[in-house]
Amino acid sequence: MGDKATIYKRPVELLQRLIRFNTTNPPGNEKKCILYIKDLLEDSGLKTTIVSLDEKRPNLVTRLTGRGDSAPILLYGHVDVVPTSGQKWSQPPFEARIADGCIWGRGTLDMKGGVAMMVSAILRAKVEKASLPGDVILALLSDEEAGGRFGARYLVENHAGFFKDVRYALGELGGFTLHLAGKKFYPIMVSEKQVCWMKLTLRGQGGHGSIPVRGAAMARLASVLARIDKKRLPVHVTPVTRMMIEGMAGNLPFPISILLRALLRPPLTDIVLDVLGTRARAFDPLLHNTVSPTVVRGGEKINVIPSEIELEIDGRLLPGFGPNDLIDELKNIIGSEVDIELILHEPGPQRVDMGIFDTLAGILQEADPGGIPVPLLLSGISDARFFSRLGIQTYGFTPMKLPRGFNLVDLIHAADERIPTDALDFGVQTMYAALSRPRD
Ligand SMILES: [Zn+2]
Repeated sequence: MGDKATIYKRPVELLQRLIRFNTTNPPGNEKKCILYIKDLLEDSGLKTTIVSLDEKRPNLVTRLTGRGDSAPILLYGHVDVVPTSGQKWSQPPFEARIADGCIWGRGTLDMKGGVAMMVSAILRAKVEKASLPGDVILALLSDEEAGGRFGARYLVENHAGFFKDVRYALGELGGFTLHLAGKKFYPIMVSEKQVCWMKLTLRGQGGHGSIPVRGAAMARLASVLARIDKKRLPVHVTPVTRMMIEGMAGNLPFPISILLRALLRPPLTDIVLDVLGTRARAFDPLLHNTVSPTVVRGGEKINVIPSEIELEIDGRLLPGFGPNDLIDELKNIIGSEVDIELILHEPGPQRVDMGIFDTLAGILQEADPGGIPVPLLLSGISDARFFSRLGIQTYGFTPMKLPRGFNLVDLIHAADERIPTDALDFGVQTMYAALSRPRD
């Protein structure tokens, strides 16, 4: 073992190094970053395997042997990041400067910070010869931000053997402080919504622009967009959303507690959402299947009335629902005469295994007494959807104790993404604790 492996004692330096690899996806360019981590892991004596669909977009897997009392646990994280173009940063996004107690840069939160926690935890366990209850498998991935074709999806479809007997995994998005009405909640992601992209085709009479037509494709487009804008799809209270909202309501004072509980009563849900307005914006997609129109294609010439217009819609399904449910719900709003085509459905985790939730929650409560862990349904998607195909339950667990006023959700994928250095230390400690606790 050389000096490299002991970088786990200096997680700030480790994260700074990771940020300085510009892994903006597209195109990704994850190779140097992955090889840098490979070097650290091998310096500690860990054996690593690199597997890739494209040699420039590698993924790394390593395994640390435990006592075998608990099933192996998987830690996985992605090293690619989203673009910074068009954003105004107060610090350069790939220099990882330290200012105001934070490391600034693209990926500090999503999710090189989490990767630094995972790498630190496994290095520490290896270097300090810890006796862990079960094996720890670490998978560092390319291409999460652009669909996972070169990363998690490739691994799950081609190298499932690495993950044999794994029941639980720790991944991104969870265990961070969410300040609400004087309380500190720690959402732990246990499930996520599903992508359900659709294309609508609107048809009508075309013709010369000099002779107007009424009720044609353009007018239909306007009508469809207006209806989607005005109406929500039906309310569905699914199990994780119920656990999350009940967990929050039980710890909040009147009248917020009553309002939150009312969200779980479908006749009242939409009324309460309207009353709370932007304050409850994050709850809306957790209680509905949703549709967001994002792309319109139609018309090529200013003097030709188009006879066909395409509208692309980013649909998102709650766990337990399928594309036909969403299409039916949408038709109830926009009418059944519109032609709806499914472009992409990526099934997400359909059932939730809460088996280690209490263990992870306990670790957070010990690290931050007064913190209240709650399960979280993610309105977006993560690589968890691929691992769920192998029967693996992911917990979003990249813990960060954040000060009041630090709004993590607003900084992800945005300008001035940054992580407080003490939040990174908190994550390294709690990640290590998660590996050390017995699991059923
Ligand atoms: Zn991410």
